[in-house]
Amino acid sequence: MTKRTPLIAGNWKMNLDHLQAIALIQKLCWTLNDADHNWDQVEVAIFPPFTDLRSAQTLIEAEKFEVRLGAQDISKYESGAYTGEISGSMLSKLGAKYVLIGHSERRQYHNESDELLNAKVKAAWANSLVPIICVGETLEELETQGQSAVPVAQTIAALSGHETIGEFVIAYEPVWAIGTGKVATPAEAEAVSKAIRAAILENFGGESAQSRILYGGSVKAANVAGFLASGEVDGVLVGGASLDAEEFAGIARFQKHIVL
Ligand code: PEP
Repeated sequence: MTKRTPLIAGNWKMNLDHLQAIALIQKLCWTLNDADHNWDQVEVAIFPPFTDLRSAQTLIEAEKFEVRLGAQDISKYESGAYTGEISGSMLSKLGAKYVLIGHSERRQYHNESDELLNAKVKAAWANSLVPIICVGETLEELETQGQSAVPVAQTIAALSGHETIGEFVIAYEPVWAIGTGKVATPAEAEAVSKAIRAAILENFGGESAQSRILYGGSVKAANVAGFLASGEVDGVLVGGASLDAEEFAGIARFQKHIVL
């Protein structure tokens, strides 16, 4: 079994203009380099707004920072008359490696359906981007269907029907835990991660089942280690805490808090 490199991903959402983005990236990289961050053992990725990507790419490449770049969304279309959309080829030309697909805020506020998200996954692969497919249940779904049913169904919906399956990451983010300060327990995150991995194995085969599964929802430096200790959860997707360089660097240094 190949080892899954933990991924610490920071979703900035609609925060920070391109100048503020430069300041945060510089601070983050200086903080991590100072702390002897082992870039081979923990991958760190940031997801700034689209308008920051060019500045972020220039800085990251010029300074040879090892932090990876990702986008918060992608169009299902390749090009053409789709006002306001951003294509996968535009993102990969700006140095993006990852793209978030189906964040609960996009499902909720932009009515993004499983069918649309499936097409976005295809667009990501067509442009050599790695989709981070966000899945998770609302509080109502948790109460009526339990914790795993919705994230498992959303995972299968995003990955079904493709001719070939490329690299992907799943981010399990209970909607009730995003930006609320409410956190799933490490045992809950582990159980849902196991259920998602079992469903991937059953539906898409062994190689896909080696994909990374992250937890997201009110993660901070103080609670990250609990999620990653068991080895079932392969990283975290962080919202609010990724806007603070010290805090985000503290999350990326989670191994220091794990007692083996
Ligand atoms: C997110 O938006 O993906 C997220 C997990 O947010 P927060 O960490 O702020 O809960």
